[in-house]
Order: sequence, then C-alpha cells, then structure tokens
Amino acid sequence: MKDSNCIFCKIIDGQIPSAKVYEDDKMLVFKDIEPKAKVHLLAIGKDHFKLLSEMDESRAELVKYMLCKIPQIAKDNGLINGYRLIINQGDDAGQTVFHLHIHILGGEPLPW
Ligand code: AMP
Ligand code: ZN
Repeated sequence: MKDSNCIFCKIIDGQIPSAKVYEDDKMLVFKDIEPKAKVHLLAIGKDHFKLLSEMDESRAELVKYMLCKIPQIAKDNGLINGYRLIINQGDDAGQTVFHLHIHILGGEPLPW
C-alpha cells in the first residue's frame, strides 16, 4: 500500500525523481540526496510502513527479502571493502522520513 503524502512512496511512483541503482517488484534502492559517506544508498520496500516498531510477520518478510538482496546490490555499487546498514527508529535516532528504509553506507572507512 502507498501513502500519498510520503516522499518515498512518491519516489516509487516516479512523482519525485531519484537516482535509482536497483529496482524490482518488491523494493527500490536509490542514492541518498544528502550522502553521509562516499556511497550512501537507501533501500525501501514498495509497501509503505513508517517505523521499525510497526514490524509484523508480513513486513519482516519484506525486510528479509531486502536483506537477502542488499549484499549483491552493495557489490554492484562498488562496496567491496565493507559497508554499514542503518535503520533509524523515531526521533532520538533522527528519523526524518517515515517510510521504513535501510541506509547502506560505505565507499570509505566509516567513523563509528
Ligand atoms: P532518516 O533520517 O533515517 O529518516 O533518513 C532519511 C534520508 O532520506 C536522509 O538521509 C535524507 O538525506 C534522505 N532523503 C530525503 N529526501 C530524499 C530524496 N528526495 N531523495 C533521496 N534521498 C532523500
Ligand atoms: Zn511511503
């Protein structure tokens, strides 16, 4: 399901442009518009939900699917020396977009 007010749903629908690096029927991976590392990708599922705290079995299947795809997508984007995955949950983590996404960061040694 989509949320018409959600910018990531709009990216999925093509209403907002993005630099896509991978897409299939369940997920999309695109470049973060304000990269926090040399390579900074965002992986999103095509079903809208806001928060990790809304996880259920069906949503977990989607996240599992994304986690199975990410290593190859990372490799295809030059992340051969390692990378970091981040999911921000809520305000204290600084979550700004409320459509669950996995940050993929790398391309250089990352500060902790
Ligand atoms: P978070 O703080 O975990 O909610 O991360 C949201 C991320 O989305 C931030 O790193 C933003 O730079 C990124 N972002 C916001 N709008 C766009 C956009 N239109 N295209 C690509 N990345 C975006
Ligand atoms: Zn959405």
